[in-house]
Amino acid sequence: MARVYNFSAGPAVLPEPVLKQAADEMLEYGDTGMSVMEMSHRSAAFENIIKTAEADLRELMGIPENYKVLFLQGGDSLLFASVFMNLALNGKADYIVTGNWSKKALNEAKILGDPKVVASGADSNFSKIPDLSDLDIREDTSYVYICENETVHGNRIHKLPNTKGHVLVADQSSMFLSEPTDVTKYGLIHAGVQKNVGPAGVQIVIIREDLIPEDLPGVPTMLRFKTHADKGSLYNTPPAYGIYICGLVFKWIKSLGGLDAMKERNEKKAKVLYDFLDSSNMFHGTVVPEDRSIMNVPFVTESDELNKKFIAEATEAGFANIKGHRSVGGMRASIYNAMPIEGVEALVEFMDKFEKEN
Ligand SMILES: *Cc1c(COP(=O)(O)O)cnc(C)c1O
Repeated sequence: MARVYNFSAGPAVLPEPVLKQAADEMLEYGDTGMSVMEMSHRSAAFENIIKTAEADLRELMGIPENYKVLFLQGGDSLLFASVFMNLALNGKADYIVTGNWSKKALNEAKILGDPKVVASGADSNFSKIPDLSDLDIREDTSYVYICENETVHGNRIHKLPNTKGHVLVADQSSMFLSEPTDVTKYGLIHAGVQKNVGPAGVQIVIIREDLIPEDLPGVPTMLRFKTHADKGSLYNTPPAYGIYICGLVFKWIKSLGGLDAMKERNEKKAKVLYDFLDSSNMFHGTVVPEDRSIMNVPFVTESDELNKKFIAEATEAGFANIKGHRSVGGMRASIYNAMPIEGVEALVEFMDKFEKEN
C-alpha cells in the first residue's frame, strides 16, 4: 500500500515526517510509558506539549504578548457563533461575504443578532473579491468579518479590507500558517486545524486580550473565550492528541525555515498548477487571476461529462480527493503546506496527458 497524492480540502494531507514521528511515539511518548492519547491533560508531560506548541506557534507567527492563543474544540463552525457572542456585545457586526464559509458565519450571526453584509461576491458566484477599500461599515459595528481564504470557492482576500478603524476578525482556516501574517492587523483570527495544520478536532483562536469580555450574561461557560484564556486552554479536557500533532507540525514548519519558506514553497506549487490552467484549452480556473487562492484551486472543463471522466481517471491514477465541492462542481486541488511540489507536477502532467487524449 503506497501513500497517494491527497488533494483533500480537509481533513487533509499532513507532513510525512510528522506522521512517522507520531507513529514512533504511539506506544511510549518520551519516558512516560504511555501514548499521548492515554495521558492526563494535567500531567507534566502534556503541560509541556501544549506549552511548547503555543510557544512555537507564537514564534512562527510573531504573535504579540497582548494576544491570547486558545486551543478549542467544537468545530470551526462553532466559532461562527461564539465569535459573535463574545465580540458583538451590542448585537452588531458587519460581514464581507466572499463564499461558502463567510456566508455560513453570517447565517450564525443572523440567529444571534443584527449582522450587516457590507460587501458580497455573490453576483460573480464568488469568482472575484469585491472592492473592499471603502465599505459602508456601521459606525457602531463590533467588528468586520472576513473569510480570508475561501476553501470551497478558491478565492483569497489579498488586500485586507479598510475597516475604518474597526476590529478585523478573520477565518484563516484554509490558509493558516501557509505564509506570514501580521497578527497586529487583526482583533481575532480563527482556524480549524484540519485544513493545513493537524487532525480534525482542534480550532485555534488568536485574540487580542482587550477583546475578551469579563462577563457575558446568558452565555454558557464553554462558549466564553475568557474561560479558556484564563486557564491556558485547560479549563476542561482539551483535544489533547490533536494539539500534540499540531505541535509536531509547528516544529516541522520551523525546521523548513518558518512561514517565509512556506510562502515560497506554496507560491511555487500554485504557479505550476495555475500556469497550466491558463495555458490549457480544456481545463480552466474558476477565479479571476488576481483573487486566486494558493491553497485551494478549483477548476473545470467545458462539460460535466468530461469532469466526471477526469475525476474517475485521476482517482484511479492515485490523485485522491480531486472532486470539487458539491456547491461548485468540477474539480478542486487543495495544495496545502504538506503537499510536495512533486504531487502538483504529477497532477499537471496527468492533466496534460488527459487533455491530449480527450
Ligand atoms: C472547513 C472550514 C470551516 C469549518 O470547519 P469545521 O471544523 O468543519 O466546522 C470554516 N471555515 C473555513 C474557511 C473552512 O475551510
